[in-house]
Amino acid sequence: MPMPKEQDITRDTASNTVDNTASNGAPNSSNKFVLPGDFIGTTEEFRAGAQTYEKTGGVYAAIAGTARVNTARRLVSVIPCTDTPPILKKGDVVIGQIVGLRDSLAMVTIAGAKDVVDREIPNVGSAVVHVSNVKRGYVKEIAHEFGIFDILKAKIVDLQNMRLDTSEPEMGVMKALCSNCRTPMVRHDSKLKCPECGRIETRKLATGYRTGII
Ligand code: ZN
Repeated sequence: MPMPKEQDITRDTASNTVDNTASNGAPNSSNKFVLPGDFIGTTEEFRAGAQTYEKTGGVYAAIAGTARVNTARRLVSVIPCTDTPPILKKGDVVIGQIVGLRDSLAMVTIAGAKDVVDREIPNVGSAVVHVSNVKRGYVKEIAHEFGIFDILKAKIVDLQNMRLDTSEPEMGVMKALCSNCRTPMVRHDSKLKCPECGRIETRKLATGYRTGII
């Protein structure tokens, strides 16, 4: 009688297991939506995995996505959400990151949308804010209103061309990094001040600047 072939190759799948369950019903910090520069944990708790970086004892998100913790390896990664079909429409409020500035427009990578941020993040790619959509009144230079890597809250005014508008008070920059040292800036009267190097910059600020409330 032939013996069954040995096909049961033991694989160590444990090391690939991503623990994203909250079996005890506690708030599950391992599945948190994060934005670039958000603090995820300390380097004592975690090692920095994909799409994260370490800085002064902390592990931070390098991109927008979902923070996942591999508890077996104490490794934290940020998973970009790329498989969700676009579900946006004109008038929707989106969250994005400034990735480029030109004379008359800012280029934005959309990271999420209001009311869907906690569920799925639509991957709708790029959008622009034309200089005429930045704020009410005259904009001398778009670089005085937005900075590279800023996190923006904006309303879709043209879905076909993915044009965004930040002229309403609650729209605009939600989080800004110092252009000198990349530290998140704090409000200082109507401007922003870097708590690290003291640099003062201007932005078209959203009323919810750094409240974390979208
Ligand atoms: Zn600075």
